[in-house]
Amino acid sequence: MLAEKLLLNLLITISPILLYSVLKDHKRKIDSPLISGLLQSTAAFACMIFSYSNYGFNWDLRYVPLILAFLYSGPVAGGMVFTTILVTRIIIGGDTLIFGLVNTVFSAIFPILLMSKFWSFTPTKRVHISSLVGAWSLLICYISWTIHQSVQGQSLMINFNIPDLLILGIIYTIAIAIGAKLFEWLVERTRMEEEIIRTEKLNTLGELAASIAHEVRNPLTVVKGFLQLMKQDEKGKNFDYLSLVLSELGRAESIINDYLNFAKPQFEKLEKFPLADLLSEVKMLLDPLALKQGVQLDSNLDLRNFHLFTDRNQLKQALVNIIKNAIEATPIGGKVTITFRPENQLGYICITDTGKGMNHEQLSRIGTLFYTTKDKGTGLGMSVSLKIIEAMKGKVSYKSKLGVGTEVTMVLPEGSKEMINI
Ligand code: ADP
Ligand code: MG
Repeated sequence: MLAEKLLLNLLITISPILLYSVLKDHKRKIDSPLISGLLQSTAAFACMIFSYSNYGFNWDLRYVPLILAFLYSGPVAGGMVFTTILVTRIIIGGDTLIFGLVNTVFSAIFPILLMSKFWSFTPTKRVHISSLVGAWSLLICYISWTIHQSVQGQSLMINFNIPDLLILGIIYTIAIAIGAKLFEWLVERTRMEEEIIRTEKLNTLGELAASIAHEVRNPLTVVKGFLQLMKQDEKGKNFDYLSLVLSELGRAESIINDYLNFAKPQFEKLEKFPLADLLSEVKMLLDPLALKQGVQLDSNLDLRNFHLFTDRNQLKQALVNIIKNAIEATPIGGKVTITFRPENQLGYICITDTGKGMNHEQLSRIGTLFYTTKDKGTGLGMSVSLKIIEAMKGKVSYKSKLGVGTEVTMVLPEGSKEMINI
């Protein structure tokens, strides 16, 4: 009988969350604590109506909606459920009224205290915390039941029905865990919907920006050309100004090119070439920068026959961006190493540095457009590199430790014409 009633209660506690999700589906923008509170209050009320009376107490799952409402829907919804339980309990009345009211107040204290910090935990932790808060309210009920028995002068041993308590404990924990999981699922779904809308907006904006960037590049090239001509004839102090203007124009041009490359990597000239050769070429290109920064740039290349069939310049650009980042992150006296080895038709390129490294949060943001920690950085380099390597069906992974260094591993499939995805 107890189990039946409690299982019915379990269904009652789950239904408001499911109903809320259906309502949310119907009308996307309902995110109201009032509606959630109303549904949870109805569930708490129904639990109390369909409760199991024994040992002078009503056994039900009324605190499940109370805890979930406080934790997941906030103080308004929680307050509504709290009031509903108190009012219903007063209407039901009986000898144990005072115990019922005290239980409700104590069961609400813990979730109220946790409410402000609750969302700083991970989803799994939130489910665990909800279950723990549930266990706390069970403990309160058990303590007040024991006090009630001793006030009544009854022996605890006679009435201490362990199977009943176990059934209550198990069903209670399951109810709260399922409720919390369902809420988490709802939260995740809302987050994903928002993410999709945001991505759609960004895509449109990105396309717009790309077309503007494309239009700006042409006049920029013309201006640059004429300035170069003017510079040839200029001998006076304007010569310095023109050099400065040209170098800034070059910077603007490279940013625009990077951005356009990110928007859509253009593979113009496809050719077959040995990857190790390209890597030595990139190393030679970056040697002066490493020297200037006081960083030792080493390479350890396996010269076995491993060819790629792709746009050589694009891959070079991707590698330069990544190795440049490694050099820039490394302090004077540090070391950057480029390693390459082919294995099972895959080329493994590893770039390790003894630089400042990155923490978990920084690592997760790498490759996000415009993410940079440098004063003069653009935050385009990694986004472009990842896009290019992705277009070549390769993979990039990062391992990093703050203060120790970073290891970037790239895996590229050996090239045949069919493998190229443009
Ligand atoms: P930028 O170089 O213009 O800042 P990137 O997209 O190339 O933009 O890099 C983004 C950010 O990633 C950098 O600002 C830096 O904080 C971080 N980063 C990239 N590579 C490394 C590395 N090897 N070590 C430490 N931080 C790095
Ligand atoms: Mg960079």
